[in-house]
Amino acid sequence: MATLGIPQNTIAVLQKYNFNFQKKFGQNFLIDTRVLDKIVQASEITKDDYVLEIGPGIGTMTQYLCEHARQVAAVEIDKNLIPILADTLSEYQNVEVIQEDILKVDLNCLAQEKNHGNPIKVVANLPYYITTPIIMGLFESHVPIQSITVMVQREVADRIQACPGTKDYGALSLAVQYYAKPEIVANVPPNCFMPRPAVGSAVIRLVRYKERPVQVLDERKMFAIIRASFNQRRKTLVNGLNNAAQLPYSKDQITEALEEMGLPVNVRGEALTLEQFAKLSNLLQ
Ligand code: SAM
Repeated sequence: MATLGIPQNTIAVLQKYNFNFQKKFGQNFLIDTRVLDKIVQASEITKDDYVLEIGPGIGTMTQYLCEHARQVAAVEIDKNLIPILADTLSEYQNVEVIQEDILKVDLNCLAQEKNHGNPIKVVANLPYYITTPIIMGLFESHVPIQSITVMVQREVADRIQACPGTKDYGALSLAVQYYAKPEIVANVPPNCFMPRPAVGSAVIRLVRYKERPVQVLDERKMFAIIRASFNQRRKTLVNGLNNAAQLPYSKDQITEALEEMGLPVNVRGEALTLEQFAKLSNLLQ
């Protein structure tokens, strides 16, 4: 394989096809073989695995995935990249390139048809402008997923992995940690990409829980409570929840629930663990 992770090889392909980067698609291609090795290693792909890659670009990581996985599906929105991918992936029989917006692909159907409904692994250098909808979409649509190993903005990786009481802790931390155990596996500086992004990046691995870490009577209600708690971060939880138009709870109901949980009535949402949000949501049910 002519490793595209080597900058000269990427430049040669871009020149051959006179390719223009599209900023609106978040196109920052990887040009560092150590980072590519690290991502593939962290994703623990084997020849048994069906892998979904989101945004293959010119196929730099796709080549690595084809070498390690049984089968790869690569979903790319930019039609100008399709002929390039046909070229750079021509020696691999185990890849299917799908030209589509990842947010419109029926991934349940893909997993069912191509992997008999068995869990798939997702690996990607994500387009940063849609990181959260992609990750939450993967979890919330209940696609059978074993793990997600993705490059994201460093700041987003920090938010995903954050613990209660820290500045980065918020609705995204809780939403992801409800479904998966997060681990930042590498920090990646801008010079590993072409063109260089304005922000630092990180590779984060999310290993999906077989069973949810907390028992909650109504998931949607719990997430509505979580969102309301962080919408007004500097308010106490009692005021934040009471002010939220979409929640019907009185101050007395919320105070009573907090007291039952042994929490002070002036507690803020950022202090509560996922377990405590689940309990609060169940008590308010
Ligand atoms: N995987 C390549 C690499 O590492 O060099 C490219 C990564 S680049 C950060 C993101 C890729 O996602 C681009 O190829 C971009 O065109 C593609 N992309 C952007 N939005 C997309 C969408 N909604 N659905 C599918 N692919 C998308």
